[in-house]
Amino acid sequence: MAETGSANGTAISRRRGVRGWLAEAGDAITSVFFPAGCRICDRLLVTASRIPICEECLSSFERLPAIVCDTCGRPLPGHAEVASQSLFCPACQDKTYAFERARSFAVYKDALVQAILLLKFEQIGPLGSWFADQLAGLVRDGADSLAADVVVPVPLHRERERERGYNQAALISRPLSKKLGLPHKAVLLMRTRARPDKRILSLEERWESVRGAFATRPGSQVDNLRVLLVDDVLTTGATLDACARALLDAGAKSVIGLTVARAVRNPLPNSSTW
Ligand SMILES: [Zn+2]
Ligand SMILES: [Zn+2]
Repeated sequence: MAETGSANGTAISRRRGVRGWLAEAGDAITSVFFPAGCRICDRLLVTASRIPICEECLSSFERLPAIVCDTCGRPLPGHAEVASQSLFCPACQDKTYAFERARSFAVYKDALVQAILLLKFEQIGPLGSWFADQLAGLVRDGADSLAADVVVPVPLHRERERERGYNQAALISRPLSKKLGLPHKAVLLMRTRARPDKRILSLEERWESVRGAFATRPGSQVDNLRVLLVDDVLTTGATLDACARALLDAGAKSVIGLTVARAVRNPLPNSSTW
């Protein structure tokens, strides 16, 4: 039914609220009567969840090992943990990254690659919220080392976001900010140069494509804030690094990178021998 010129704003918003509730109830009814398969393994979904991925697939994501580079979070196989001593990978010994620390929930492989694709191309909000739960757990476990004042998603270029209609990093960062009780600043950072259309092959090209590609929006307040910067995947760390540089240039106190997934096979920048 069309809203025919009602001057009563309250009535309209109440009607919209009912409509929203009906839509939600409709979704719930659909999932009960038309059970769907897991979008990754096709197993029948039996729990009443709005995430289209089964429990088996969700619990198959491989967590990062305990021994990682203290700065970038890269696994350091073959290193023994020494109490009260931080370990650093060669890139971080060279102080490659501008961010203070980066951590990820799980290894970018198998089912997690597919889950990230679902989030990225199908805008599955409940999945973003589930990822946010996992990242909130990391932040709480990290205590002071991952403490922040504000949550910021890695931005897409404006045209890319217009094409897609949303920024997948914000599908994670927004619920994360709620869970952590921190403000969410979705427009603080912007991507001023789009990612090139051609497939990026080399490590150098990857770094080159994001160098100087981000800036803070004029007039945005970031002075002396500790920023929690959120993205879906960390590959080389080049994107988080470029964002961190823009935030620090604008006066941020520190930047902590947080991603759902981490590619662990990618070689390190500035290191041909590693
Ligand atoms: Zn599954
Ligand atoms: Zn490192």
